[in-house]
Amino acid sequence: MDFSLSDEQKAFRASVYDWAAATVAPGASDRDKEGRWDPQVWKSLAAQGLAGLPIPEQYGGAGGSVMDCVVANEAIAEGGHDGGFNLSLGAHWVIGSVPIWLHGTEEQKQRWLPGLTDGSMIGAWASTEPEAGSDAAGLLTTAVPDGGDWILNGNKIFITNGPIAQVCTVLAKTAEKAATAFIVDTSNPGFQVGKELDKMGCRSSPTAEIALIDCRVSADCVLGKVGEALWSIAFECFDWERTVMIASAVGGMQATLASSIAYAKERKQFGRPISQFQAVAHKLAEMKVRLESCRTAVYRAAYLKQTGVEHQMEASIAKYLVGELSVKNALDAIQIHGGYGYLRDFNVERALRDAKLGSIGGGTSEIQKLIISRLLLGG
Ligand SMILES: Cc1cc2nc3c(=O)[nH]c(=O)nc-3n(C[C@H](O)[C@H](O)[C@H](O)COP(=O)(O)OP(=O)(O)OC[C@H]3O[C@@H](n4cnc5c(N)ncnc54)[C@H](O)[C@@H]3O)c2cc1C
Repeated sequence: MDFSLSDEQKAFRASVYDWAAATVAPGASDRDKEGRWDPQVWKSLAAQGLAGLPIPEQYGGAGGSVMDCVVANEAIAEGGHDGGFNLSLGAHWVIGSVPIWLHGTEEQKQRWLPGLTDGSMIGAWASTEPEAGSDAAGLLTTAVPDGGDWILNGNKIFITNGPIAQVCTVLAKTAEKAATAFIVDTSNPGFQVGKELDKMGCRSSPTAEIALIDCRVSADCVLGKVGEALWSIAFECFDWERTVMIASAVGGMQATLASSIAYAKERKQFGRPISQFQAVAHKLAEMKVRLESCRTAVYRAAYLKQTGVEHQMEASIAKYLVGELSVKNALDAIQIHGGYGYLRDFNVERALRDAKLGSIGGGTSEIQKLIISRLLLGG
């Protein structure tokens, strides 16, 4: 199994890193403090041709492979130090745009993908509900046929890009234990964006509750087959989240390691750099081991996905490892930075808060262990 990067991918990674370091990083601390999404950073990303990276060129995208998306996501996080920007981008790519590309009719693709790929539109996905999180099948939002249309009613929560998206794919129950996905134009009067949620981390990414109140959509808004969204579209979204979206946390781990190495070499105590104390040097070694374990796990899952090989086990292993170990690395980075690491002005403090989402969003660590153990036990 060879998932090493080609020279072209290495050059692409370097150019994306440079863009993120120049454009995303400078305002990251302020956006975090203010909980503010910055449309100018988004416009700059779109100008780089990155808004439609996973989508084929015929729909305006860049036709990137799964590995290209992993590499770009990782490089943006490493250079940008802004987990929130990566969260919004990841949601736009893998749960906002990819389902329309993979399951949409030609008409749906022509209607939505050009805007999503040139960045003039932002995409979102709404499956989670106040009473249906890990148990995604327990959703209560209903879609009832009415003439040739459908009427959606219910409440969604934790919707990334909810306040800024022009299009949102909404999951609703259409029969007992059967859900259907609907592509909803967010200007629909029945699609009501509620309170923006005040989060611990990833604060530059807007997250909201959505109320669907007699939200009337026409039959041509149905994405994929009626009643089959849970085990096809939603399942696939989770898979993209666990292979591509999670790569941002690997970039975050790389950034906190680099900051920690630089700080440990520069900071002197007892007359010498703290890097010369074995306790500090070993922390750096442990951070590197965790980083490479996570990167290898993510690249392996992404490579298998790209080559069309079954990889549910590998994707859950990657998601679990990254979700847990990125937090450990951020904690070690803070420890190495001492009191300064505890200050909001240092990137490592934000890195810890941003990293924590990795063990919750897109399927918690406990759910990953449930999947892994079920696959092991054949249940
Ligand atoms: C910042 C953020 C952005 C998000 N973005 C989106 C989005 O864009 N679209 C969207 O639809 N959703 C989104 N989510 C929702 C996210 O996917 C859910 O929060 C996640 O799946 C967990 O669901 P929950 O929060 O309801 O927790 P719960 O499911 O209530 O879990 C609570 C605890 O119980 C544990 N638990 C639950 N069931 C089991 C079990 N069977 N075995 C063992 N332990 C279990 C969990 O692991 C967890 O520790 C987002 C969430 C956050 C925080």
